[in-house]
Amino acid sequence: MAQSEVILSFQQQWDRVLGRLRTEVGEAAYRSWLKPLSLLSGDESFIRMAVPTRFMRDWVASNYQDRIQALWLEEVGAPADVEIVVLSPSRPVPKPALVDLKDESEIVHASKKETHLEPEPPILSVEAVQEQDVQQITGSLDPRFTFENFVVGKPNELAYAAAQRVADAEAVPFNPLFLYGGVGLGKTHLMHAIAHQIRKAHPEKKVIYLSAEKFMYQFVRALRTKDTMSFKEQFRSVDVLMIDDVQFIGGREATQEEFFHTFNALVDQNRQVIISADKSPSDLEGVEERMKSRLGWGLVADIHPTTYELRLGILESKAEQLDVDIPQKVVEFLAHKITSNIRELEGALNRIVAHATLVGRSVTLESTQEVLHDLLRANDRRVTIEEIQKKVAEHFNVRVSDMHSARRARAVARPRQIAMYLSKQLTSRSLPEIGRKFGGRDHTTVMHAVKKVEELKSTDLEFAEDIELLSRMLEN
Ligand code: ADP
Ligand code: MG
Repeated sequence: MAQSEVILSFQQQWDRVLGRLRTEVGEAAYRSWLKPLSLLSGDESFIRMAVPTRFMRDWVASNYQDRIQALWLEEVGAPADVEIVVLSPSRPVPKPALVDLKDESEIVHASKKETHLEPEPPILSVEAVQEQDVQQITGSLDPRFTFENFVVGKPNELAYAAAQRVADAEAVPFNPLFLYGGVGLGKTHLMHAIAHQIRKAHPEKKVIYLSAEKFMYQFVRALRTKDTMSFKEQFRSVDVLMIDDVQFIGGREATQEEFFHTFNALVDQNRQVIISADKSPSDLEGVEERMKSRLGWGLVADIHPTTYELRLGILESKAEQLDVDIPQKVVEFLAHKITSNIRELEGALNRIVAHATLVGRSVTLESTQEVLHDLLRANDRRVTIEEIQKKVAEHFNVRVSDMHSARRARAVARPRQIAMYLSKQLTSRSLPEIGRKFGGRDHTTVMHAVKKVEELKSTDLEFAEDIELLSRMLEN
């Protein structure tokens, strides 16, 4: 029967994806995180799986979801939304219907008896998934991506304010809202937040959120099944249309054309359109000029790379959500070290928390460095004496010039000694070389500083920790 054929080949595709992922991540990680996944339902463009705890869901989502999606794309040749839901152990996970059900009566049985997944039924037909995608896309909205969970700082305040404005406005305030910024900086989060907010205030409104890839895929599928009419109608009857990562639309003419028409039709009808991309409209590659200019008509809000303060704020907020105690020093350490983007920062935090949970010990600076070894190494570069001086001065609130000055007041002499000590520990410079960088001091002064700091470290725990923290922040 056709239905089971779809199901079986879906299972096989999934097995292949899982098999590849297993080779990538290794046996230990596979057993801890991937083996416990149970497949609930899906089709070629949608996969839903269950894990037993919220924590596992967050972990799998932040560490493996992207890889799963990428591998799926490679295996199947089409993008899929991956959704991970929590089914608590007290509510037994149904024997994955897709794995061993040979007959439909068992599917019904399994879903009625054992699944408590609300509100959608656990088994979605291919049609139902498409319907759902276009009608509401509830399935692909991440419940964690809300305005409440979004930490606002200088780099993202404009985008945040604009997103809120769009979500709360009764009349379309600007059209389109164009959000752009580097990867992992919160574009998708803001779009989902808008969708959540509008759905809460106006459940009757039709809100569609789609990645540009998915949009293209739907369009190509509509072309293939000669059903472009209903495709057009579905998109053109929405109140709010959000298309994420629109840079992927570049170069594909037929889809671009369709997108452009859809876009124009909606804007003309005064329906809100929200677009995200990794570049500003004018920098989008392979996109027609008229389209670029049209995309810039509304409000263009960029999200800048993170600052130290924002990273701190985000770590604090995530730690609170995960309900774990992370020592302040660890939080500061991470905020200093993981500067690439918020996704990576979050991934790092999840990793150390998972480790602590697994081994049953609390998070420390040591365990953090151990667990994030690869990640830190990847972000590392050679530290210079100038950087050490700058960081130490910052840490003790003295001027960098005090590192070279002749001032001997304890308040500046001690930080200077610490910087000398760290220069000895963290660089390969000789004592005379270090002395020269500290206002032309003698090598015996440097030697004295090193001894002094070692002595203090052995007698003063807090001091030792401070040095430890500084050195980890600077370390290669
Ligand atoms: P993008 O779409 O720009 O690549 P995402 O929106 O997917 O980035 O964000 C990556 C991760 O970082 C998500 O888990 C998101 O929740 C988180 N994140 C991004 N910005 C913030 C923020 N300002 N506050 C809290 N979490 C954030
Ligand atoms: Mg995104």
